[in-house]
Amino acid sequence: MQTPIIKVTNLHKKFGDLHVLKGVDFTANKGDVIVIIGPSGTGKSTFLRCLNYLEVPSEGTIEIDGSIIGAGKHSEKELIEFRKHTAMVFQNYSVFRNKTVLENVMMPMVKVQKMNKAEAEAKALELIGQVGLEEKVNEYPSRLSGGQQQRVGIARAMAVNPSILLFDEPTSSLDPELVAGILDIIRRLAKEHNRTMLIVTHEMRFALDIADEVIFMDEGGIAERGTPEELIKNPKNERTRKFLEQTL
Ligand code: ADP
Ligand code: MG
Repeated sequence: MQTPIIKVTNLHKKFGDLHVLKGVDFTANKGDVIVIIGPSGTGKSTFLRCLNYLEVPSEGTIEIDGSIIGAGKHSEKELIEFRKHTAMVFQNYSVFRNKTVLENVMMPMVKVQKMNKAEAEAKALELIGQVGLEEKVNEYPSRLSGGQQQRVGIARAMAVNPSILLFDEPTSSLDPELVAGILDIIRRLAKEHNRTMLIVTHEMRFALDIADEVIFMDEGGIAERGTPEELIKNPKNERTRKFLEQTL
């Protein structure tokens, strides 16, 4: 049996009195494409943020590619080191508004990976090409559509060459006509060998199309997990069924 690339054990996350994650156990193998669905406010973003070490667990452990984080204090240096395994694409693009497309994509390579500028620029241009933004290389985000800004977000996430890509509702802020283009890019990335991806989305057809597995999160835990066929077309859990009835 292969060693999982992600192993989450009894993960709890509290914000003050609010108990958001209530004992999540989860594993993923290298190359898995896993879609996470579930009602709003159930802890999906908090779960991804924990995996990206943007949040520290209140209890339990997260092991990614050999780095283990648990509750308690971790130095900033440790967190930065851990964060190198994962990259996240956010709903609201999170591009730097005062930087061009090229500068946005180069930045993580220069700042985090300490790559020299020429090398970073060459790699950035390649990634910008992969997301179809060649013509906007020197443009600022304010002059790009939401879909184009999200392409920058994806190229920037790819820039650190992460072993795990996390997508938090990457198309939820987009106008409907821009959704398909972004889903196509994610679909292409998912087909690349050995890229592990966790994707929170409400796009069920997309999930059926690309996921190896789908997880239904509810009330701070994983309520059901299965293949897309099982979980979306034939859910066993009553709460999954109710949720899907409302969504489809
Ligand atoms: P989802 O992504 O499933 O919609 P979230 O993980 O964003 O859910 O949020 C789960 C719950 O945690 C919500 O009630 C939200 O208000 C709360 N929450 C999330 N982040 C914070 C935070 N930094 N401080 C306090 N409460 C938070
Ligand atoms: Mg969310």
